[in-house]
Amino acid sequence: MKFIADAMLGRLARRLRLLGYDTAYERDITDAALLQWALKEGRTLLTRDTGLAARKVLPGGQSFLVTPDDPASQLREVLEHFSLPTPPPGGHLIGRCTVCNAALVPVADKQAIKDLVPEHVFLNKREFFRCAGCGRVYWEGSHIEKFKKLMDDIMKKRAR
Ligand SMILES: [Zn+2]
Repeated sequence: MKFIADAMLGRLARRLRLLGYDTAYERDITDAALLQWALKEGRTLLTRDTGLAARKVLPGGQSFLVTPDDPASQLREVLEHFSLPTPPPGGHLIGRCTVCNAALVPVADKQAIKDLVPEHVFLNKREFFRCAGCGRVYWEGSHIEKFKKLMDDIMKKRAR
């Protein structure tokens, strides 16, 4: 399942990417361009805009109005509505680059990224991932821990 998020859903887009879901996002984009992109690549539009969600450009079910204001509830709503597994089957918690949406690949040889991360990170972390698109290096640090906690909370609420 591939998504495209409107300009108001930047945080939701980054979180879906971390979970491994291919989510297109651009801050400055017209409604028309957003819809064209969704159509061309078969992406489901996630939007906060009632008017945009009601436009009949996309086939039925290919646009979804995200109703909550806070990003955690937004993520929960999207995961529930589309019955998305978390993390996706076979996917690592760090799934795609939050910046450019390309897939992250595990770094086989840690030495290769030695100069790209802070020294204490290099010394203390075993697993690193590199973005196949922009080259950014990822590791399980504090923001991933925070994200994991958020996911745990979301999962607990879903289970109820
Ligand atoms: Zn990237």
